[in-house]
Amino acid sequence: MAGDPLYGHSIRQLQALDRAAVWHPFTQMAGYADPLVIVRGEGNYLIDAEGRRYLDGVSSLWCNLHGHRRPEIDRAIREQLDRVAHTTLLGLGSPPSIELARRLVALAPGDLGHVFYSDDGSTAVEAALKIACQYHRQKPRAEPRRTRFIAMEHGYHGDTLGSVSVGGIDLFHATYRPLLMDVARVPSPWCYRCPLGLRRDACRLQCADEMDRAVDRVAGEAAAVVIEPLVQGAAGMIVHPEGYLRRVRRACDRAGCLLIADEVAVGFGRTGTMFACEQEQVVPDLLCLAKGLTGGYLPLAATLARRHVYEAFLGTRAEKKTFYHGHTYTGNALAAAAALASLDIFESQRVLEGLPAKIERLGRALAPVARLEHVGDVRQKGLMVGIELVADRASRRPYAFEEAVGDRVCAAVRPRGVILRPLGDVVVLMPPLSITLDEIDLLVGATGEAIQEVTRP
Ligand code: PMP
Repeated sequence: MAGDPLYGHSIRQLQALDRAAVWHPFTQMAGYADPLVIVRGEGNYLIDAEGRRYLDGVSSLWCNLHGHRRPEIDRAIREQLDRVAHTTLLGLGSPPSIELARRLVALAPGDLGHVFYSDDGSTAVEAALKIACQYHRQKPRAEPRRTRFIAMEHGYHGDTLGSVSVGGIDLFHATYRPLLMDVARVPSPWCYRCPLGLRRDACRLQCADEMDRAVDRVAGEAAAVVIEPLVQGAAGMIVHPEGYLRRVRRACDRAGCLLIADEVAVGFGRTGTMFACEQEQVVPDLLCLAKGLTGGYLPLAATLARRHVYEAFLGTRAEKKTFYHGHTYTGNALAAAAALASLDIFESQRVLEGLPAKIERLGRALAPVARLEHVGDVRQKGLMVGIELVADRASRRPYAFEEAVGDRVCAAVRPRGVILRPLGDVVVLMPPLSITLDEIDLLVGATGEAIQEVTRP
């Protein structure tokens, strides 16, 4: 029923219909009951059918940047809608996609000079993997044997088969191994649970030596290293030690393979800078962007390529060097208009300049949470936070999977007016960049209370 936010149903009916007809992502549907149904958004808040307001503590799964119903983005989409909603980029251009490419190229580090559009994070990575493979076949001194990828343990790059291949979270990925590429794995630089058994205050970044060794082992077959720069998000907000990314870049240069930076989660200010790579002065060969690209409004992704990569795809018709890849909604005009409005907000509101005070307030608010008995580790980079809950703090022993402690904390925070979604027993905070200082206190205060309620003996 047009105009009715509940489409002619009561909230109870909607919940029943949701159970009856919707298969939710990453969700065990047996026992899935009475889902919260969000009707509206307002700034950093989500509003349910009964008018209850919740702080959007994970930015609607890590994508909202400037709050909901941002007038500038709403207006940009409406204005584009009055011209045309979608036209193909297969052989045609559109003003918003052209202007957005110009702006992204200007923002991106180094000579990341061409933008290949797709629809979401997985497709941005999928495109990067195929570009890397094809690049080595077509570059001036071709090396067609370079078809293997090197990726991190616990990594997450999306749910399509290529991006699952380079993923390393067994719970999500192990089932599909028979369908996947053979990828070389490198241990994550996860200081709290160091795979080399070292301590950060005393180590010499030996984890980066592991990356060197992995690249050497694959040697002439290595197409690219795939990495989430600075923070492995879905792994549980694993914050990499300083200098690690630079070492990865060096390993790639030495081995002659490409570096693919998946900034789907960390891009657009989340770590405190526009792109995470900037913090280590690293220019990847391929840069994958999605999630925050449209301010969290519409699906759109971009894979940016450096000049040498792009040029390997140029040739005559007979040479067949074309990148034969592209999705129907590639570079959608409404999404590109939203992305342009989001970039305008970054500039007009000086969003990046406002982040240090918020990041500092978040860190300060988290200090008492870090002292709670069942909080093993609090990891923060910019406005990305992972609070790892453990059964025993001294031995760092995790809770049993069946206890679902992370889920229970997120359920307990909801009556306190906050929406969160955990990664296992890591409670994730990833608010919109537009969160205020008071809202940061509310977010962390409610989370601390919920952790105590659930973990109290
Ligand atoms: N890469 C990273 C680092 C991600 O965090 C995600 C999504 N959480 C993806 C890729 C996949 O993005 P999407 O869900 O938009 O396909």
